[in-house]
Amino acid sequence: MLNRRQTLAALAALCLMPPRGGATPPQRVIVIGAGIAGLGAARMLADAGLAVTVLESRARIGGRIWTSSAWPDLPVDLGASWIHGVEGNPVTALADAAGARRACTSYDASMLLGPDGRKLDIDSAYARAEQLFEAARAELEETTTDLSLAAAIEGSGTWQRSPARQHRLLRHYVNSMIEQEYAGDWREVSARHFDLDEVFPGDDELFPDGFSPVIEPLARGLDIRTGQRVTAVELIAAGVRVSLHSGERLLADRAIVTVPLGTLRAGDIRFSPALAPARQKAIDTLGMGLLNKCWLRFDRVLWSPKVDWIEWLGPRDGYWCQWLSLTRATQQPVLQAFNAGAQAKDLESLDDEATVASAHDALRSMFGNRFPAPRAAQVTRWSRDEHAWGSYSFNAVGTTPATRAALAGADWDGALQFAGEACSSEYFGTTHGALLSGRDCAARLLKSA
Ligand SMILES: Cc1cc2nc3c(=O)[nH]c(=O)nc-3n(C[C@H](O)[C@H](O)[C@H](O)COP(=O)(O)OP(=O)(O)OC[C@H]3O[C@@H](n4cnc5c(N)ncnc54)[C@H](O)[C@@H]3O)c2cc1C
Repeated sequence: MLNRRQTLAALAALCLMPPRGGATPPQRVIVIGAGIAGLGAARMLADAGLAVTVLESRARIGGRIWTSSAWPDLPVDLGASWIHGVEGNPVTALADAAGARRACTSYDASMLLGPDGRKLDIDSAYARAEQLFEAARAELEETTTDLSLAAAIEGSGTWQRSPARQHRLLRHYVNSMIEQEYAGDWREVSARHFDLDEVFPGDDELFPDGFSPVIEPLARGLDIRTGQRVTAVELIAAGVRVSLHSGERLLADRAIVTVPLGTLRAGDIRFSPALAPARQKAIDTLGMGLLNKCWLRFDRVLWSPKVDWIEWLGPRDGYWCQWLSLTRATQQPVLQAFNAGAQAKDLESLDDEATVASAHDALRSMFGNRFPAPRAAQVTRWSRDEHAWGSYSFNAVGTTPATRAALAGADWDGALQFAGEACSSEYFGTTHGALLSGRDCAARLLKSA
């Protein structure tokens, strides 16, 4: 972090840049946000010889890639954990370059438990649920308007003709396959367009030593100023003026904004002149989703060591329904629960102790009353994170294939650029989507320089 004297010196240096316009290439770029998108963009621009400064509001780099060191012998990832689809994925290349150890988790190693903990046949239950889901979604094709997934399903003839136990199964399927995946609540997710994304082939692999070390090499040698919250970005005659919470102001030829959609939606940064109407509409239309994690650490493995995923058809839709055993990946007796959407929001109102008690209640229903309390726990509350205001973006009702393209790209005749997870039409909600978006943005900027 810079002290006041250093910041003033840096400000003076920034003011010495050549004037913008004519054939003069941009000399100085300010990147706002040191997540994987911002670091990816800054790395490319710095390697191409531009003078790049990265401004980051947190006290650390990485953004939503954030490895907790609360358990020194067991790093856990509070944000992103997996490379989703390792083949051809740009994050795989970063991981290889960093020499990061990876471990595969597989949905083939899953089990499904009924409300009382009885083991159910997961393949036939999911096949039935998928059939119901596709039938309900097909009915939407007959209408022209978009609806939330909940409205589309509950309003469908398929739902209305089905008995209550199938409602519970279908609701579990939606929670597991859509709410947990896209972090969007089924009452907000677009039934028509929730799944506009694409995937890389290959396994899902996580990092037993944590995700943060994977991106550290990207930041090496860059001018990154942490603890610097940007409050305003203005277009002025000399370029772009960026104001910080501290009152300092920095000048550059161009700025790249990579802050999360939640930050843009909250209006934490004032843009003057206002953003293009299509970009503002995209910000207002997309949803900022919520996915939270809760790790419970035990003295020994008290569940099948052969499974990665434990699904529970518990009594309350979407509460404590999906668990990851970290035993195969890390050889540790740790369970990690996921809650998403409205359920996650509701659970955030509990303190750590009450959250762990609620999780423990679920485990006793799943595995019997004698299931012990964990000896340690960690809990996330992403909707309260003032640097993100949520986990990652999802396609809310009204989103179309054009929405994210309207968010990405440039304003102010190219002086203001946007990148980040939410700007990726193909891979939103992922680290690789964010990285590719940052690199695309840098490439565009270099091309127009
Ligand atoms: C719980 C959870 C689980 C996830 N799981 C996965 C997964 O397994 N695999 C996967 O690929 N992806 C996963 N993701 C998504 C992935 O983490 C993100 O898509 C990706 O990290 C976003 O990168 P980014 O650079 O776009 O944004 P960020 O990483 O959020 O970076 C933006 C930066 O801007 C900073 N900032 C905010 N406001 C300001 C301001 N006013 N001034 C200056 N700086 C500011 C923020 O602090 C942040 O560092 C998960 C995310 C969460 C939260």
